[in-house]
Amino acid sequence: MQGEKQLPWVKEALTELRHLEEISQTRKLTTTECAYDPWLRIDGKEMLNLASNNYMGYAGDERIKNAMIDAIHTYGAGATASRLIVGNHPLYEETESKLLSWKNAEAGIIVNSGYTANVSIISALAGRGDFVYSDKLNHASIVDGTILSRAKFLRYRHNDLDHLESMLKKNSNKNRHLIVTDSLFSMDGDFAHLKELVQLKEQYHALLMVDEAHATGVFGKKGEGYSYHLELQDKVDIHMGTFSKALGGFGAYIVGKSWLIDYLSNRMRGFIYSTALPPAILGAAKAAIELAEEDQERRTLLHDHAAHFRRSLTDYGFTLCGSQSQIVPIMIGSNEKTIKFAELLRHEGIAAIAIRPPTVPENQARIRFTITADHRKQDIEWAAEKVALVGAMMGVIG
Ligand code: PMP
Repeated sequence: MQGEKQLPWVKEALTELRHLEEISQTRKLTTTECAYDPWLRIDGKEMLNLASNNYMGYAGDERIKNAMIDAIHTYGAGATASRLIVGNHPLYEETESKLLSWKNAEAGIIVNSGYTANVSIISALAGRGDFVYSDKLNHASIVDGTILSRAKFLRYRHNDLDHLESMLKKNSNKNRHLIVTDSLFSMDGDFAHLKELVQLKEQYHALLMVDEAHATGVFGKKGEGYSYHLELQDKVDIHMGTFSKALGGFGAYIVGKSWLIDYLSNRMRGFIYSTALPPAILGAAKAAIELAEEDQERRTLLHDHAAHFRRSLTDYGFTLCGSQSQIVPIMIGSNEKTIKFAELLRHEGIAAIAIRPPTVPENQARIRFTITADHRKQDIEWAAEKVALVGAMMGVIG
């Protein structure tokens, strides 16, 4: 359009994009083939996939794919409307009932994505005059939900519970309090201190919400999540998790007491005003829960691989940001150096992601590796050697 570039919005957007480019913070899409496979292809080049959240390898599982195909044949391609209109196809009830028996929970509901779940839960529960306490490293959807809620937003330093307590103390007689945390932090691979968070929420009469996105399928005897691994599930008020990572599909769940789920299903705008998930997605979720609850062997394999990879990288001299899980970051620092590191890894045949601000704090850019149960021991060992080779070339390790 003639003169379009003169509009302040366009001029400012272009300036901002130029600035992002200068500080190596622009993001570009690349087409990935076979992302569910431990070996994927980008631009025709085969690479070891250390970038997906397909922790249990279910995204390529034939049983899940077949469940999706059956769901399409029985219930069609799309849900046609929101759940409260006519989109609540029978697979919702079947999957939610499976979810409840898996999580041994009183009530639960499936929503369209983890992002939608966090934004909708927090903005439904909290409002003006309430207080939301959030770990600084919580996922962006928790941040967005809190901003949308208009509650007072208090971010405590990562896992610093003295900092959290000082905030709770200051506001303790006033209104309602919600503490929110990821259970397994997506960019550091470390855990929230759930036991201490439970003590604080009891002492200060707050609700505790735990995002199990990266722990679902991976931790707990049946893969129910990290709070189940610690046997603290009954102390957590709001459990949220996703089907989009270890469970290989898409969508999210919320479980808790009946009052909570009844309230949320009447108040969450992302639930009320969005088209229901296609039947195939529910078919996949149900099949994935059925697999996950029995699959201790695969979970053990995943944990063994992850521990092996962490140990190797530590021995080579990398700093791992406190990782205790299948998410294994190595700290690099500057954006430019991190991008270069990821490029060299690609050249060596490894796909891993350069994570930069605003996803992580300034000067804490890093490479994030993710391990899956589909990897073989020799893949893990080969990868550690290649990472060390690049690390030495770039002066990250000695
Ligand atoms: N919570 C956390 C901790 C996440 O890492 C993510 C995904 N990156 C989400 C929520 C959002 O989940 P989804 O991808 O299903 O929208």
